[in-house]
Amino acid sequence: MNDDKTRAAMLLGDAYSKILEALGLMGYPVKTDDNFAETSGRAARALMELVKPVNEIKSEIDQMLARTFSARYDEMVISKHNICFGMCPHHLLPVIYRVSVAYLPGERVLGISKLSRMVHLLARRPVLQEDLTHELAELLHTRLETRGSAAYLEGLHLCMAARGVEAHEARVVTSAVRGVFRDQPATRQEFLDLVTAPQMNLL
Ligand SMILES: [Zn+2]
Repeated sequence: MNDDKTRAAMLLGDAYSKILEALGLMGYPVKTDDNFAETSGRAARALMELVKPVNEIKSEIDQMLARTFSARYDEMVISKHNICFGMCPHHLLPVIYRVSVAYLPGERVLGISKLSRMVHLLARRPVLQEDLTHELAELLHTRLETRGSAAYLEGLHLCMAARGVEAHEARVVTSAVRGVFRDQPATRQEFLDLVTAPQMNLL
Protein backbone atom coordinates (compact mmCIF):
# COMPACT_ATOMS: atom_id res chain seq x y z
CA MET A 1 0.00 0.00 0.00
CA ASN A 2 1.23 3.49 -0.74
CA ASP A 3 1.54 6.13 1.99
CA ASP A 4 -1.74 7.88 1.28
CA LYS A 5 -3.64 4.61 1.27
CA THR A 6 -2.05 3.50 4.54
CA ARG A 7 -2.88 6.85 6.11
CA ALA A 8 -6.44 6.69 4.77
CA ALA A 9 -6.87 3.24 6.34
CA MET A 10 -5.60 4.59 9.69
CA LEU A 11 -7.91 7.61 9.58
CA LEU A 12 -10.86 5.40 8.79
CA GLY A 13 -9.95 3.09 11.67
CA ASP A 14 -9.86 6.11 14.02
CA ALA A 15 -13.16 7.37 12.65
CA TYR A 16 -14.83 4.00 13.19
CA SER A 17 -13.50 3.95 16.77
CA LYS A 18 -15.35 7.23 17.30
CA ILE A 19 -18.48 5.79 15.72
CA LEU A 20 -18.28 2.84 18.14
CA GLU A 21 -17.84 5.27 21.03
CA ALA A 22 -21.00 7.05 19.91
CA LEU A 23 -22.85 3.73 19.64
CA GLY A 24 -21.74 3.06 23.24
CA LEU A 25 -23.40 6.32 24.29
CA MET A 26 -26.51 5.10 22.51
CA GLY A 27 -26.55 2.09 24.84
CA TYR A 28 -24.87 -0.58 22.71
CA PRO A 29 -22.39 -2.96 24.40
CA VAL A 30 -19.45 -1.99 22.20
CA LYS A 31 -16.91 -2.55 25.00
CA THR A 32 -18.25 -5.84 26.36
CA ASP A 33 -19.63 -7.70 23.34
CA ASP A 34 -16.66 -9.22 21.55
CA ASN A 35 -18.42 -8.92 18.21
CA PHE A 36 -17.26 -5.29 18.32
CA ALA A 37 -13.68 -6.12 19.33
CA GLU A 38 -12.04 -5.79 15.90
CA THR A 39 -14.79 -3.78 14.27
CA SER A 40 -13.02 -0.45 13.70
CA GLY A 41 -10.24 -1.97 11.58
CA ARG A 42 -12.58 -4.40 9.85
CA ALA A 43 -15.05 -1.63 8.97
CA ALA A 44 -12.19 0.54 7.66
CA ARG A 45 -11.04 -2.25 5.35
CA ALA A 46 -14.61 -2.87 4.19
CA LEU A 47 -15.05 0.79 3.30
CA MET A 48 -11.82 0.75 1.35
CA GLU A 49 -13.20 -2.09 -0.72
CA LEU A 50 -16.43 -0.23 -1.34
CA VAL A 51 -14.57 2.91 -2.42
CA LYS A 52 -11.34 2.48 -4.37
CA PRO A 53 -8.61 5.13 -4.63
CA VAL A 54 -8.91 7.35 -7.69
CA ASN A 55 -5.38 6.55 -8.95
CA GLU A 56 -6.02 2.77 -8.76
CA ILE A 57 -9.21 3.10 -10.78
CA LYS A 58 -7.52 5.33 -13.31
CA SER A 59 -4.52 3.09 -13.86
CA GLU A 60 -6.64 -0.06 -14.17
CA ILE A 61 -8.86 1.63 -16.75
CA ASP A 62 -5.81 2.90 -18.65
CA GLN A 63 -4.47 -0.67 -18.75
CA MET A 64 -7.77 -2.02 -20.05
CA LEU A 65 -8.02 0.62 -22.76
CA ALA A 66 -4.45 -0.11 -23.82
CA ARG A 67 -5.47 -3.67 -24.73
CA THR A 68 -8.31 -3.45 -27.22
CA PHE A 69 -9.01 -5.57 -30.30
CA SER A 70 -9.64 -4.70 -33.94
CA ALA A 71 -13.38 -4.56 -34.52
CA ARG A 72 -14.65 -7.41 -36.73
CA TYR A 73 -18.23 -6.23 -36.67
CA ASP A 74 -20.07 -2.99 -36.28
CA GLU A 75 -23.15 -4.07 -34.36
CA MET A 76 -24.07 -2.87 -30.91
CA VAL A 77 -21.91 -4.29 -28.10
CA ILE A 78 -23.86 -4.46 -24.87
CA SER A 79 -23.05 -5.39 -21.30
CA LYS A 80 -26.34 -5.75 -19.52
CA HIS A 81 -27.51 -5.77 -15.89
CA ASN A 82 -24.15 -5.59 -14.11
CA ILE A 83 -24.84 -5.57 -10.38
CA CYS A 84 -22.36 -3.07 -8.92
CA PHE A 85 -21.81 -1.37 -5.60
CA GLY A 86 -20.97 2.22 -4.85
CA MET A 87 -21.59 4.98 -2.37
CA CYS A 88 -23.64 8.18 -2.41
CA PRO A 89 -21.62 11.34 -1.73
CA HIS A 90 -24.42 12.91 0.32
CA HIS A 91 -24.76 10.26 3.05
CA LEU A 92 -21.78 7.95 2.44
CA LEU A 93 -24.20 5.05 2.39
CA PRO A 94 -24.04 2.19 -0.11
CA VAL A 95 -25.83 2.21 -3.43
CA ILE A 96 -26.62 -1.01 -5.30
CA TYR A 97 -26.65 -0.42 -9.03
CA ARG A 98 -27.85 -2.41 -11.98
CA VAL A 99 -25.82 -1.02 -14.86
CA SER A 100 -26.17 -1.59 -18.57
CA VAL A 101 -23.82 -0.03 -21.10
CA ALA A 102 -23.55 -0.29 -24.86
CA TYR A 103 -21.50 1.06 -27.71
CA LEU A 104 -21.21 0.93 -31.46
CA PRO A 105 -17.57 0.11 -32.26
CA GLY A 106 -15.31 2.39 -34.20
CA GLU A 107 -11.95 0.81 -35.06
CA ARG A 108 -11.53 -1.03 -31.76
CA VAL A 109 -13.54 -3.13 -29.32
CA LEU A 110 -12.99 -3.89 -25.68
CA GLY A 111 -13.28 -7.47 -24.38
CA ILE A 112 -16.76 -7.93 -22.92
CA SER A 113 -15.40 -8.93 -19.50
CA LYS A 114 -13.30 -5.74 -19.48
CA LEU A 115 -16.39 -3.70 -20.22
CA SER A 116 -18.08 -5.24 -17.21
CA ARG A 117 -14.96 -4.76 -15.06
CA MET A 118 -14.79 -1.10 -16.05
CA VAL A 119 -18.40 -0.56 -14.99
CA HIS A 120 -17.77 -2.23 -11.61
CA LEU A 121 -14.63 -0.17 -11.03
CA LEU A 122 -16.19 3.19 -11.82
CA ALA A 123 -19.14 2.46 -9.55
CA ARG A 124 -16.83 2.05 -6.53
CA ARG A 125 -16.58 5.74 -5.81
CA PRO A 126 -18.51 8.28 -3.75
CA VAL A 127 -20.17 9.85 -6.81
CA LEU A 128 -23.65 10.89 -7.81
CA GLN A 129 -25.48 8.33 -9.90
CA GLU A 130 -26.10 11.02 -12.52
CA ASP A 131 -22.36 11.72 -12.81
CA LEU A 132 -21.48 8.02 -12.94
CA THR A 133 -23.99 7.55 -15.77
CA HIS A 134 -22.52 10.38 -17.84
CA GLU A 135 -18.93 9.33 -17.14
CA LEU A 136 -19.60 5.78 -18.35
CA ALA A 137 -21.11 7.01 -21.62
CA GLU A 138 -18.37 9.62 -22.07
CA LEU A 139 -15.53 7.21 -21.36
CA LEU A 140 -16.78 4.69 -23.90
CA HIS A 141 -17.38 7.35 -26.50
CA THR A 142 -14.14 9.33 -26.19
CA ARG A 143 -11.50 6.92 -24.85
CA LEU A 144 -12.61 3.90 -26.88
CA GLU A 145 -13.39 6.17 -29.86
CA THR A 146 -16.75 4.55 -30.51
CA ARG A 147 -19.40 5.78 -32.94
CA GLY A 148 -21.76 6.07 -30.02
CA SER A 149 -22.36 4.88 -26.48
CA ALA A 150 -25.12 4.57 -23.91
CA ALA A 151 -25.49 3.91 -20.22
CA TYR A 152 -28.63 3.00 -18.27
CA LEU A 153 -28.47 2.76 -14.49
CA GLU A 154 -30.96 1.76 -11.84
CA GLY A 155 -29.80 2.56 -8.31
CA LEU A 156 -31.15 1.36 -5.00
CA HIS A 157 -29.86 4.02 -2.60
CA LEU A 158 -29.74 2.89 1.02
CA CYS A 159 -30.03 6.54 2.07
CA MET A 160 -33.50 6.43 0.54
CA ALA A 161 -34.45 2.82 1.21
CA ALA A 162 -33.36 2.46 4.84
CA ARG A 163 -33.95 5.89 6.32
CA GLY A 164 -35.69 9.22 5.71
CA VAL A 165 -38.75 8.59 3.61
CA GLU A 166 -38.04 4.81 3.67
CA ALA A 167 -38.93 4.48 0.03
CA HIS A 168 -38.05 0.76 0.01
CA GLU A 169 -38.97 0.22 -3.58
CA ALA A 170 -37.65 3.49 -4.92
CA ARG A 171 -35.16 3.02 -7.72
CA VAL A 172 -33.35 5.96 -9.22
CA VAL A 173 -33.11 5.58 -12.99
CA THR A 174 -30.63 7.55 -15.07
CA SER A 175 -29.43 7.27 -18.64
CA ALA A 176 -26.93 8.98 -20.90
CA VAL A 177 -26.23 8.70 -24.62
CA ARG A 178 -23.47 9.89 -26.91
CA GLY A 179 -22.87 9.91 -30.68
CA VAL A 180 -25.16 7.69 -32.76
CA PHE A 181 -27.27 6.83 -29.72
CA ARG A 182 -28.01 10.51 -29.31
CA ASP A 183 -28.51 11.27 -33.00
CA GLN A 184 -30.62 8.25 -33.96
CA PRO A 185 -33.74 7.72 -31.83
CA ALA A 186 -34.14 4.15 -33.20
CA THR A 187 -30.69 3.13 -31.93
CA ARG A 188 -31.36 4.64 -28.53
CA GLN A 189 -34.75 2.86 -28.42
CA GLU A 190 -33.18 -0.49 -29.38
CA PHE A 191 -30.79 -0.12 -26.44
CA LEU A 192 -33.54 0.88 -24.00
CA ASP A 193 -35.76 -2.00 -25.16
CA LEU A 194 -32.89 -4.46 -24.65
CA VAL A 195 -32.02 -3.28 -21.14
CA THR A 196 -35.56 -2.81 -19.84
CA ALA A 197 -37.07 -6.04 -21.25
CA PRO A 198 -38.33 -8.38 -18.53
CA GLN A 199 -35.48 -10.59 -17.38
CA MET A 200 -35.45 -14.16 -18.67
CA ASN A 201 -33.15 -16.57 -16.90
CA LEU A 202 -30.50 -18.13 -19.11
CA LEU A 203 -29.93 -21.09 -16.82
ZN1 LIG B 1 -27.59 9.64 -0.30
